[in-house]
Amino acid sequence: MARMRKKFDLPEKYCLHCARPFTWRRKWARSWAEIRFCSQACKAACKRGEPAARHTHD
Ligand SMILES: [Zn+2]
Repeated sequence: MARMRKKFDLPEKYCLHCARPFTWRRKWARSWAEIRFCSQACKAACKRGEPAARHTHD
C-alpha cells in the first residue's frame, strides 16, 4: 500500500530569489519569520540585484 504521508510536518516557504520551495531547518529555528531565501547564495545574489534564476512564470 502507498504511503501518502509527508515525512515531516514542517513549515515551507518559497525563496524570493529562485522561487523554489524550501523547508524549515533547525538552524533557522530562531529566525524563521525573517527567512526569505533558500540559501545564502540566493540571499547574496538578491542583495547584489542579480536577476532571479527562476524557471517559473510570474
Ligand atoms: Zn533560492
